[in-house]
Amino acid sequence: MRRIAILSTSATLALLLALGGCSKTDAPSGEAGKSGSAAKPTAAVSAERLLKADSDSANWLTTGRTYDEQRHSPLKQISDSTVKQLGLAWHHDLDAINRGQQSTPIVVDGVMYVSAAWSKVFALDARDGTLLWAYDPKVPGEWGINACCDVVNRGVAVYNGKVYVGTLDGRLVAIDAATGKPVWETLTIDKSKRYAISGAPRIAKGKVFIGNAGSELGVRGYISAYDAETGKQLWRFYTVPGDPAAGFENAAMEKAAKTWTGEWWKLGGGGTVWDGITYDAESDLLYFGTANGTPWNYSQRSPKGGDNLYLSSIVAVKAETGEYVWHFQTTPADEWDYDATNQLVLATLKIGDQDRKVVMQASKNGVFYVLDRATGEFISAKPFVTINWATGFDPKTGRPKEAADARYSKSGKTFLAIPGAAGGHSWHPMSFSPATGLMYIPALDMGMPFAPENGRKSSKYTFNIGYDFAATSMPQDPIIKKSVKEGSVGHLSAWDPVAQKEVWRVQYKEPWAGGVLSTAGNLVFQGTAMGEFVAYSADKGARLWAASTQAGVVAAPITYEIGGEQYVAVEVGYGGALAIAAGEIARDKHIKGNNTPRILVYKLGGTDALPAQVVVDLPLNPPAQTASAEVVEKGFKIFHPYCNNCHGDAAVSGSAIPDLQHSPTLADAAAWESIVLGGARKDRGMVGFADELNKEDVEALRAYVIHRAHETLAENKAAKK
Ligand code: CA
Repeated sequence: MRRIAILSTSATLALLLALGGCSKTDAPSGEAGKSGSAAKPTAAVSAERLLKADSDSANWLTTGRTYDEQRHSPLKQISDSTVKQLGLAWHHDLDAINRGQQSTPIVVDGVMYVSAAWSKVFALDARDGTLLWAYDPKVPGEWGINACCDVVNRGVAVYNGKVYVGTLDGRLVAIDAATGKPVWETLTIDKSKRYAISGAPRIAKGKVFIGNAGSELGVRGYISAYDAETGKQLWRFYTVPGDPAAGFENAAMEKAAKTWTGEWWKLGGGGTVWDGITYDAESDLLYFGTANGTPWNYSQRSPKGGDNLYLSSIVAVKAETGEYVWHFQTTPADEWDYDATNQLVLATLKIGDQDRKVVMQASKNGVFYVLDRATGEFISAKPFVTINWATGFDPKTGRPKEAADARYSKSGKTFLAIPGAAGGHSWHPMSFSPATGLMYIPALDMGMPFAPENGRKSSKYTFNIGYDFAATSMPQDPIIKKSVKEGSVGHLSAWDPVAQKEVWRVQYKEPWAGGVLSTAGNLVFQGTAMGEFVAYSADKGARLWAASTQAGVVAAPITYEIGGEQYVAVEVGYGGALAIAAGEIARDKHIKGNNTPRILVYKLGGTDALPAQVVVDLPLNPPAQTASAEVVEKGFKIFHPYCNNCHGDAAVSGSAIPDLQHSPTLADAAAWESIVLGGARKDRGMVGFADELNKEDVEALRAYVIHRAHETLAENKAAKK
């Protein structure tokens, strides 16, 4: 088997440049391109224009295209009958690290605004990819340890001449669209806590709405509104109650506190708003989803019971004031990482003989929810993937009936939950087509074992969730390992939200395919983990067209029109939670390659081509093992939880984060120590652990990784036979 590990981005880039692999290089931060491009980045997006985004089919004005977040375009020049002529119009290599790229581009009047890893922002001529400017918020590398799920960013918002980005280190920045220079910057977090921003801001009525992440790391979730002109905070809504002794911010918090027990506020509480935010222009409500609790382990979080509001919930507040209006909790007292943060899609559905204005979510817990969006009234719930944590739902309230053995923190026993922590659907955007009435869901079919961890001190470097990563590391039993690996797949589901049933599906052998775009041309576009960009017919799921993207795709495509020509664009680059943490599953189930961060744009008759990819194939050459089995075992138990959430389960990297088994520092104890204890690579996101680990600990870690490298060598030899 070919093995690729990329030791450092700079080394990779140097190699690519030497080999002529990069087609274009970007200007330094903030420097306007001197290209003579016709496109002017005016970002002339008014409140009125956002309201009418649906009829503005040439542009893609907000992350979900319109306020209803349907991600469906009325454009149809590219259609089921013409898509065979689709070709690459242009590509642009982003000056960004080859980590996960999750951004949905915005296109306004011929200019594309798109973000990338480490919260970088780029403005490109949407007709030909010419760089107009690049903005680097210079997030300190060591803040990467406060991002649970890769150093990703899911996109910008554009309004009134400015481009807005939430940075990984918690700032909201307004950039002058004309120059690429920051206009104002507001810190949205308490930097003594482990918050991070990965989600795209939304804008309505001159307000910018942004949440944050950190529910695995011990924070209290909230969403805030800022004045788009000045950056002044207008309101903040916490999603979980704080210390009752300090008084409650509002009646909603007082009510929520009655559903918690113990001293949850000392643990953070969780419930962060890290992705789905949807504005309803008709009712002036703002809907958002909240994450799991901190810690995951319910017996530790709320030892005497309670539903723990407003965790794992869909919440509606008044957009003007942030005042609570209604909530619906998808997973009461969650302990399986079933965030309800997924995209929230608005539509009017004919249910029975009534037109119902609904909000819909394909939630991480594997269940598709339809709610009345004015009142939060439950309409229906149905699993869209196989689930085993619940056996059914109360037909009136939607409350799940839990499976008897699901609560691992109570039983103390390992529970193989389906879905696992990646969810039946994660943040990857879905699309709703009013033409077919179908929701196109990037679905995941994956289980994950959950086992309680008790007694470990909270760490400022690890997940603090009362979950034992060592106990659930990829089982070494070959039969279990085979079934877990083979069982971890995904599919594209065309889901009828009225009948609550699947109409067609495209099955993938791999999990973690990209977001979805649907169009009036009877097409659905999706990129895959295996580096393909594919068009299916929206009504039947027939595969009509595909192109190689060279890198795995997790982001969602968009479409726009310039000069009478329709374009389809997608950002590529594999990464995110599953990619960095899932070890062998991620390594073996995505395309091997350089994972070059790129924008790919297609049109009918496009004739651009990607440069041939030169794949770096690093040798696996570990030094001889000199440590005892006890030391290796000690290293295994430090690796999980200190290292696995970035370097992969059982020291197998599935992404662009270095695969430690290939590291030359395995043979150089001093170099290893300078990185793992001393923080020699903190600027790239690898902090030193000297505050919590000692020399013996990091030597044990090195022994464990050497052990794993020899195991991998033996596996490779056996596979060749
Ligand atoms: Ca989570």
